[in-house]
Amino acid sequence: MPTMADLKIVQYPHPTLRYQSKPVKRVDSELRSAVARMFELMYEARGVGLAANQVDMPLQLFIVNSAGKPDEGEELVFINPVISRGKGRSQDEEGCLSLPGVYGPVTRPAQVTVTAYALDGTEINRDLDGLMARVVQHENDHLNGVLFIDRMADADRKQIDFELAEFELEFRAHRELGRIPADADIHSRLTMLEAKYCQTAEAS
Ligand code: ZN
Repeated sequence: MPTMADLKIVQYPHPTLRYQSKPVKRVDSELRSAVARMFELMYEARGVGLAANQVDMPLQLFIVNSAGKPDEGEELVFINPVISRGKGRSQDEEGCLSLPGVYGPVTRPAQVTVTAYALDGTEINRDLDGLMARVVQHENDHLNGVLFIDRMADADRKQIDFELAEFELEFRAHRELGRIPADADIHSRLTMLEAKYCQTAEAS
């Protein structure tokens, strides 16, 4: 079975960042440990949110702590989130742990309602605004294979094209050195994780 013991944050343009995540149907101790590890990785990288596909898991799950520190704020896990159509508009700079050092302005709805499940199966239903609304929309985008750079205006995006090209070069170099698996190997690992967490148990 694929191990989730050695999770790390994958960087653009890793193919899992473009993967359509699947709904989670079961939670086990391994997945709980993976979520705990996601929080550690997020804090180490000084982030406020992290989606499962950023650690190469194909699941509709993301974590948030808007304080960005383990001893502050509130640690939230959103499983199978659904975001309502938002209200208002707000523009702010965003960054992403899969694109370290890259920032750009993104316009999003200012207020949203999110429903989801927590790790223990309880329902979450929250009206969000400010930073939390932005972070939850950014992380939810990840689950659909969307990155914040996709939502930047063309003129702003042009200003970071050079930085993106550098990430692409670095990715290719890592792959040539065998540090990143081939697409087929990445895909088969995702498929195995889906079989484990995204299928309801049924007699066959
Ligand atoms: Zn991100």
